[in-house]
Amino acid sequence: MHELSIAYSLAEIAVEAAEEAGLKQVKALYVKLGVLSGVAKEALLFSFDVAIQGTPLEGARLIVEEVPVKVFCPDCQEARILPAPFPMRCPVCGGKTGQVLEGREMELSALEGGDSNAGDGIYPADCGNSSEYPEEK
Ligand SMILES: [Zn+2]
Repeated sequence: MHELSIAYSLAEIAVEAAEEAGLKQVKALYVKLGVLSGVAKEALLFSFDVAIQGTPLEGARLIVEEVPVKVFCPDCQEARILPAPFPMRCPVCGGKTGQVLEGREMELSALEGGDSNAGDGIYPADCGNSSEYPEEK
């Protein structure tokens, strides 16, 4: 499955980013997903849960922010957001444009740490994943 390998590399990047940021625990990952990226959001969410098992990210949520297609119109000299089904024409002047600025990317935009004020080893029962406590290494 395409999304599974993407989820694995995403998890890898996130683990490194969390280490660099000094996060002991990651509560949520924010990912920007372009609508032209070819990645199916539902499949990615599912794959992510599989990919983070046994990693420091286990229990983290993936929050996908879908990014619309943005093109640069040479006639208007402006960036325009294309509506589906993305005809590659400027929605304002109708001119042809093939210059996609956004909408193909998939990138990690932010990490939310979960170890700030909770205190060591204390996980309130209402934290959303009460049945599975994060494992100590
Ligand atoms: Zn235009």
